[in-house]
Amino acid sequence: MRAKITVVGAGFVGSTTAQRLVEKRLGDVVLHDVVEGMPQGKALDIMQSACLEGFDGSIKGTNNPEDYADSDIVIVTSGLPRQPGMSRDDLLLKNAEIVGGVADNIKKYAPRATVIVISNPLDVMTCLVGAKTGFPKNRVMGMAGVLDSARFRCFIAMELGVSHRDVDAMVLGGHGDDMVPLARYSTVSGIAIENLLPKEKIDAMIARTRNGGAEIVKLLQKGSAYYAPSSAAVQMAESILTDSKRVLPCAAWCYGQYGISGMFVGVPCKLGAGGVEEIVELTLTPDELRQLQSSAAHVAESLKKLGF
Ligand code: NAD
Repeated sequence: MRAKITVVGAGFVGSTTAQRLVEKRLGDVVLHDVVEGMPQGKALDIMQSACLEGFDGSIKGTNNPEDYADSDIVIVTSGLPRQPGMSRDDLLLKNAEIVGGVADNIKKYAPRATVIVISNPLDVMTCLVGAKTGFPKNRVMGMAGVLDSARFRCFIAMELGVSHRDVDAMVLGGHGDDMVPLARYSTVSGIAIENLLPKEKIDAMIARTRNGGAEIVKLLQKGSAYYAPSSAAVQMAESILTDSKRVLPCAAWCYGQYGISGMFVGVPCKLGAGGVEEIVELTLTPDELRQLQSSAAHVAESLKKLGF
């Protein structure tokens, strides 16, 4: 039996995520959007590449949330993306309305699914989905840390001229300007980057990582990034579906870890068949911990605007 994965929102992030899921043979995909005909058209287009790409899974476009039924995983990408000059927080109220409605549908039609939220502002939307579905907290998570870490890894590899595959990095905290890239836990084949690069270069890469989404929004002039975000979400889905137990930074429900309680925020997680099976607690310096807690405080402020 192939897994069933529903992708809600068939825009840039959703359709690219659906394409990557079937091309990686991770399951059958349902692609849902409120725009009539659009998810059906994109699904048909992707299906017509099956004989060329060599995948057997199916992809079905729909406007009917009842098609979420029996999903193992639901990936939420519905909502407005940023435009130049906007912060992720500027999307709060409109996306809360969209994502809140989607969460109700997930609860109704896919009650045993594990949910990966992508819509921004990410940490707040993940809290909203957690609250509205009422699912066990291990079955709800947000995608941001894998993307932010991939951006940091990319900049490190480009700076050093080494294979991207040999670079690991860790970015914690909320998916905003105050995210916390951890240079001490970022390595090239196990060698800490602090041994390979001067502090000024590392600081510049940290700043570029924090601004990574805005840099792309500015270049595109319309819409936001979707190639790397879809790769990041699929890596999380793959770890869950194959029970790989990869340790990846995700927005996960904290209940005291890092001194943070009662909210979803970016922390290293073990992802397997049980969803978020464990939050890994790194030893942080007082300054790193202060940065992480202040990023979480920013998420808490946005949550208050939604009445949490
Ligand atoms: P997009 O505008 O291309 O697509 C969004 C889609 O959602 C549209 O097709 C729209 O019709 C659909 N939609 C709206 N309401 C819906 C509903 N109720 N049910 C189903 N579909 C609905 O935008 P995009 O570039 O794909 O980005 C999607 C979201 O992902 C944005 O909020 C963006 O900010 C966010 N994002 C997050 C990250 C991250 O790291 N977490 C990265 C990139 C983008």
